[in-house]
Amino acid sequence: MSSADGRFAPSPTGTLHLGNLRTALLAWLFARSAGARFLVRMEDLDPGRVRPGSAEEQLGDMAALGLDWDGEVVFQSRRLDLYAAALEALRAEGLVYECFCTRAEIRSASSAPHGPLPEGAYPGTCLRLGAAALAQRRAAGRPPALRVSAGAARVAFEDRLMGAQAGVVDDFVVRRNDGAPAYNLAVVVDDAAQGIGEVVRGADLVDSTPRQLWLARALGLPEPSHAHVPLVLGPDGDRLAKRHGDVTLREVSPPSALEWMAGSLGMPGATSAAELLERFDPAALPREPAVLGRV
Ligand SMILES: [Zn+2]
Repeated sequence: MSSADGRFAPSPTGTLHLGNLRTALLAWLFARSAGARFLVRMEDLDPGRVRPGSAEEQLGDMAALGLDWDGEVVFQSRRLDLYAAALEALRAEGLVYECFCTRAEIRSASSAPHGPLPEGAYPGTCLRLGAAALAQRRAAGRPPALRVSAGAARVAFEDRLMGAQAGVVDDFVVRRNDGAPAYNLAVVVDDAAQGIGEVVRGADLVDSTPRQLWLARALGLPEPSHAHVPLVLGPDGDRLAKRHGDVTLREVSPPSALEWMAGSLGMPGATSAAELLERFDPAALPREPAVLGRV
């Protein structure tokens, strides 16, 4: 294992678009340019959203761009015992509590200002339930979610591309009220279990990083470093989406997709992942969102 071991972790819920694939390419470039392992993990904990055949299609698209990965692809749905063990460890430390709130209750509670917590953050309503109210909520039969008790901790980190970052951690959910482990818990447990040293992912996830670092510390797990890469926008300036059309390898040939990615990464003219790897310099990467016009 190396401190630069990296990963790409898509949700197999549909076809990857060129923005997703560009992030996969970047994660691969970061890891491979450091001589490190590159792993793939399927974040398939939401059975209602997983689409049959999607994982295979996504892996095929990565391979079509010339990306390779080490070892078996990991599926989160087959690792529930790991997440259960982490929840038990948090419970043993007194770091989780039951939350019975409905979405509507959370929305109205979080709209009021709550000290240092970010707007929309859960204000800890259920942490302050008295014994009688707690017993009443339990007896009512609505299954609780589990939230961490983070005490509005402030967590700072240095992002390799975005520089100094910091956030206040709210009492986020680690087990949903349908019993499924929540995204943040699974990511932290898996990155540690897989030995990931550097998390390279889209800038849309930068706000979840303080939560994940807090959780890694709470669980006594190693903290990976981070590089959040600029997003890809459509011609209208909105975040790239399927509605922009011609944005997947179903419509765009792999060579054309690579040609656009190479240009958007400041390496115009490169025609293969291997050539991009030879020329890759993280310090020279554009820091602005890329716009996908005509490919
Ligand atoms: Zn609650």
